[in-house]
Amino acid sequence: MSNLLYDVFFASQAGRSRPFLILPDGAQISGGEFLYMVHRVANALVACGLQPGDRIAVQIEKSPMALAIYGGAVAAGVVFLPLNTAYPPAEIDYFVGNAMPKMLVADGRRAGALTPVAQAHDAQLMVLNADGSGSFADLVAAQSADFTPVARGVDDLAAFLYTSGTTGRSKGAMLTHGNLLSNAQVLTREWQFTDKDVLLHALPIFHTHGLFVATNVSLMSGGAMIFLPGLNMDDMIRLMPQATTMMGVPTFYTRLLDDPRFTASLTAHMRLFISGSAPLLAETHVQFEKRTGHRILERYGMTETNMLTSNPYDGERRAGTVGLPLAGVELRIADPETGAALPQGETGMIEVRGPNVFQGYWQMPEKTAAEFRSDGFFMTGDLGLIDDKGYVNIVGRAKDLIISGGYNIYPKEVELVLDDMPQVLESAVIGLPHADFGEAVVAVLVATGQAPDIAEIENALQNKLARYKQPKAYIVVAELPRNNMGKVQKAALRKQYETKFK
Ligand code: ATP
Ligand code: MG
Repeated sequence: MSNLLYDVFFASQAGRSRPFLILPDGAQISGGEFLYMVHRVANALVACGLQPGDRIAVQIEKSPMALAIYGGAVAAGVVFLPLNTAYPPAEIDYFVGNAMPKMLVADGRRAGALTPVAQAHDAQLMVLNADGSGSFADLVAAQSADFTPVARGVDDLAAFLYTSGTTGRSKGAMLTHGNLLSNAQVLTREWQFTDKDVLLHALPIFHTHGLFVATNVSLMSGGAMIFLPGLNMDDMIRLMPQATTMMGVPTFYTRLLDDPRFTASLTAHMRLFISGSAPLLAETHVQFEKRTGHRILERYGMTETNMLTSNPYDGERRAGTVGLPLAGVELRIADPETGAALPQGETGMIEVRGPNVFQGYWQMPEKTAAEFRSDGFFMTGDLGLIDDKGYVNIVGRAKDLIISGGYNIYPKEVELVLDDMPQVLESAVIGLPHADFGEAVVAVLVATGQAPDIAEIENALQNKLARYKQPKAYIVVAELPRNNMGKVQKAALRKQYETKFK
């Protein structure tokens, strides 16, 4: 009997003495040892009565054991449901109530507050702390290191991954063994990962980037990961010499560039830097190449679809684009209303189809149906265009599109002009309710200096943008609100300033 993901990602670790996980204190866990952890977790899940198809939810800090729970769940046919560590208990109540997991594993610091949540939804609560202690760890330690995996095929569920909640309430995306395997295969090949690679991993593992993109590619290629609990610049600088590759969200790259210890010689041996999860400013791309000589490889994907496009490993990495559709991914730009394919160069909804695309939102059949076209294409909610060389350019999210006085305004177009000004460090352009215009264009700015001269910015915009695209108001802030994946929270900005014109 076979278990698709187990066979490719985990069984292949058997007997491996080379490190799979390298920890910041220098400790190492070999592939073989990691597989034993996976088996022990799988036995623990079975011992607690979890059956194939049941869910296990976790809200725990990043640790080797946290990653082994993913493996154990795969082996036991249990659906893995990792939750963002930033969510307070009230939000966890929504996820647990929605997914109805049999077990909830929580960090000891939150276990008290989560006890009523687990009780209300009939989930068994267990504790796993960042240092590897807790009732779940005790249970795991008492298990056998032998486990016969449960048979799982292409269409069996492997995980529910909740979206980041940037545009509204998070939705549970149902991902199958086939979805995860197909994407890992494509990315491993595309980015040329091998067992010589050591990935510097400072991403969280409750999100598709750190969990599936980084981990699955490492498992698949037989490489290792330097597994940092979070983004700590001292560790990043200290451990970079041991790495060959890095994956990060754009803020990782701006933080590295802010650090004078981050130099060309520190990165001379590196093979690849990859960015995703949020738009990488073309400026960051340029600065990074100036400093290190490396061109960051930007790719694009989402919880529901895994990765969709990537700049090429060999070939031109175009700043400000997310590259070309990955092998096996069909991608089209369509009229958001009708779904009709648009000609090259026109902006519309990015729609995708392929073995990487999820099975739907858990217990949201209407929402699922509304996001798929009748021919099976999924509407990503992102607007973009395909340029003359076939590269995908994302212009923003459909939900962030501003309609002012009957005109469509793509925030990114305005942001690019603003960001180019010496006075502006970065910007978020949003639409706010306005009695005359429906929505008014508003620029939220982070300035480079103390007090930006707004009149000067307004003036400069006059001959750069059509009048209807020019902001009706400017708001200067110390920093843009971002979540822990570096995504700008435009919905939060709209809410904060919603009465500006009222
Ligand atoms: P929600 O769906 O709950 O509103 P979310 O879409 O932010 O949240 P994720 O699945 O984590 O949740 O993020 C996917 C989105 O991230 C994509 O739809 C896209 O808007 C954005 N994204 C990912 N990579 C890139 C990139 N390289 N450039 C621009 N945007 C990106
Ligand atoms: Mg989304």
